[in-house]
Amino acid sequence: MIHTKICAECETLLDEAIVALRQHRVQMSTGISLNVHGYLTEELRKELAPIVVGSFNFAQTAWDDYCGHLIQHGLLTPARKAVQSAVSVTHMPEAPGGPKHTGGVPVKSANMQKSQRKAKRSI
Ligand SMILES: [Zn+2]
Repeated sequence: MIHTKICAECETLLDEAIVALRQHRVQMSTGISLNVHGYLTEELRKELAPIVVGSFNFAQTAWDDYCGHLIQHGLLTPARKAVQSAVSVTHMPEAPGGPKHTGGVPVKSANMQKSQRKAKRSI
């Protein structure tokens, strides 16, 4: 098994975000389809709008929870940018000439970002 910075809760939170986003998509698609086919009345729009907004907010909250969890793992910055690929941190040996670039942020650069974040927090 490859050692990574992810856990079972990562998958649970991602699944919850996906389900919530799919639910929002269904509701949004229903509204769009009704409108395109001329069935969306003002009365129906007033009825559907809070439902669509509610599913959007629920999906946003689920996504925020997932992102917050990844931030706790150190995989995302609070600005929601990936720090580095999860595998490259622990299993990509450094090449003799310097750090390997594995598609993510090089380890040395990521460590520098981490120390910069700590510096900002202490201000
Ligand atoms: Zn996790």
